[in-house]
Amino acid sequence: MARRCARPDCAAAGATTLIFDYGHAIVWLEQLTEELDPMNHDLCDRHADSLSVPRGWQLRDRRAVPAVALFGSSIAS
Ligand SMILES: [Zn+2]
Repeated sequence: MARRCARPDCAAAGATTLIFDYGHAIVWLEQLTEELDPMNHDLCDRHADSLSVPRGWQLRDRRAVPAVALFGSSIAS
């Protein structure tokens, strides 16, 4: 089943998983997780990038996987 952005007005595919740590008031942005936990939400890149968190919460972006890490090494070696 395709995973879609959780925003009701958005039909884009989910690209990022949003994880709430209520105990520490932290919102994590992760690479799309393999299994969607019912507590989490998927967002498309556009909505993940424009995400704002409630006052007093921290936003931690852990999506950072540089493209060079994926394509920088030679597959012919
Ligand atoms: Zn979206």
